[in-house]
Amino acid sequence: MTARTIDGKVIAAELRARVAEEVARVKREHQLTPGLAVVLVGNDPASEVYVRSKHTQTQAAGMASFEHKLPADVAQADLLALIAKLNGDPAVHGILVQLPLPKSIHTETIINAIDPAKDVDGLHPNNAGRLAGGFAALSPCTPLGCIILTKSVHASLEGMNAIVIGRSNLVGRPLVQLLLNENATVTIAHSRSKDLPQLCARADLVYAAVGKPEMVRAGWIKPGATVIDVGINRMPLPDGKTRLVGDVAFKEVAEVAGAITPVPGGVGQMTVACLLVNTLRAACAISGLAKPG
Ligand code: NDP
Repeated sequence: MTARTIDGKVIAAELRARVAEEVARVKREHQLTPGLAVVLVGNDPASEVYVRSKHTQTQAAGMASFEHKLPADVAQADLLALIAKLNGDPAVHGILVQLPLPKSIHTETIINAIDPAKDVDGLHPNNAGRLAGGFAALSPCTPLGCIILTKSVHASLEGMNAIVIGRSNLVGRPLVQLLLNENATVTIAHSRSKDLPQLCARADLVYAAVGKPEMVRAGWIKPGATVIDVGINRMPLPDGKTRLVGDVAFKEVAEVAGAITPVPGGVGQMTVACLLVNTLRAACAISGLAKPG
């Protein structure tokens, strides 16, 4: 293996520690305790794991954590009423509704109901539009994490050729905007793109956010490129257990790339850490304090 492995665990731990320091400072100097409310509808086991991890990490950073668990058959009006209450609650600076929601609930209506100033998932159209316009915005956490991981390798992304494979509102599209803000030259690819291997071969930075196990192969990668693997795919093993793999064929790509994130232990670690960053930013902005360092 030639590539340097980008250790998401270590970088996320450092970020959480920096957030905790800033939280302690705003508590001490401004009597402000940033608060995050997480809303979980139903009992999807994966969502329960994510929500538990968000709760633990929020508290560990010194913030207030408010958990709201609603049954899968909750009426949309009741969920909207809870969001309205959280929008008006001065102790809550960030609101995250864990996705996916049950089919009976219209996800877009719920996202649109969140106060954009408290939209720490960065999915409200106000924030998505502001980000696309190059204005200050709360950005989705996973793409923010991707940028931080890339910058652990390259101090500046200016002028670099980047390719983002995947164009979801959660990952691909906001990642493109963040890369543009860093002055990278960005190609965005998706399921209808032609000649993906050739498109990738030009890229100094490759981001795979597709949801297709080990799709990105060594032959696609420019020697020395930085490869950030967002994919989380569960592969069944013969013993009935599962193994997590990314969208990148790690072993073979690591022979060609200059730096690469593993799965697990890469991007996944950054998502919750960036949620804490966004909650702190939202708390400071709502309270009229300067953007935290
Ligand atoms: P979506 O399913 O919403 O989007 C997938 C994207 O990949 C779409 O834009 C789709 O194109 C594109 N795509 C599908 N097949 C191909 C193909 N053969 N070639 C090129 N592009 C293709 O997924 P998400 O963006 O939500 O998530 C992507 C992956 O990242 C998943 O594995 C998910 O689990 C993971 N993830 C990880 C997170 C983390 O914290 N690490 C957080 C969020 C997601 P089209 O638009 O044309 O359909």
